Amino acid sequence: MAGPPRLRGAWTAKIITLFPEAFPGTLGLSLTGKALDHGLWALETIDLRPFGEGKHKNVDDTPAGGGAGMVLRPDVVGKALDQASIGTPPDRARWPVVYLSPRGRPFSQAMARRWAQGDGITLLCGRFEGVDQRVLDHYAVEEVSLGDFVLTGGEIAAQALIDATVRLIPRVLGNQASTEEESFSDGLLEHPQYTRPAVWEDRAIPDVLLSGHHGKISDWRRETAERLTKERRPDLWRAYCARHGRDPEEDQEL
Ligand code: SAH
Repeated sequence: MAGPPRLRGAWTAKIITLFPEAFPGTLGLSLTGKALDHGLWALETIDLRPFGEGKHKNVDDTPAGGGAGMVLRPDVVGKALDQASIGTPPDRARWPVVYLSPRGRPFSQAMARRWAQGDGITLLCGRFEGVDQRVLDHYAVEEVSLGDFVLTGGEIAAQALIDATVRLIPRVLGNQASTEEESFSDGLLEHPQYTRPAVWEDRAIPDVLLSGHHGKISDWRRETAERLTKERRPDLWRAYCARHGRDPEEDQEL
């Protein structure tokens, strides 16, 4: 028997951080900011500091085994994760619990799409040398990376992930079609874009784009997207060719 219809609030990001003042940050601007104001999504920060130990509310300690820096304590982070779990569905498919980490699975448009279909997400922002491994294991926290570089904290990465996710929630972008044609949506990088003036610094917009011929325009866009992807991202190009039964080494007559 089907259960009762699920009552859904707006998609919500809960962010555990030592720096709640970093939010909404850029997420408060432009389309994501308007959508936040209009309640199309919601943001909740959970300050890690009050969960700290003792008079000084210590949240970190020195790394076991020695070495530079400090590590966020598992008991402190655990209390913050408990707080975040209040009122969230236990189904991780609907509400992932994620630690931002350079050791995590690389973030992707596919993840953003999946997350946008859930009810929300809990994001744990690390600082210093990161978080005690036991709390990640105990709470089965998924690790996701923004890319192969090291930031000083998870806050910028959290904002990037939220931005990419929230813009896929219906009605956040005015023009829904724009998320269907952009980079990665079909496995290709997007074609170049142009706007007025028609000639700038002796550079003209490609004639075909001003021809009004929709068939030719879409052919040009697909061909330039394919060429760019082949040049810049051979990894994406090979995957695209495999999906479409094409030879990645084929010559393109462009
Ligand atoms: N010692 C760690 C790096 C810690 S950087 C290591 O070498 O793996 C401090 C915090 O910044 C991390 O806990 C994480 O939350 C965040 N961070 C750093 N780089 C990141 C990245 N590429 N993606 C996501 N979060 C990152």
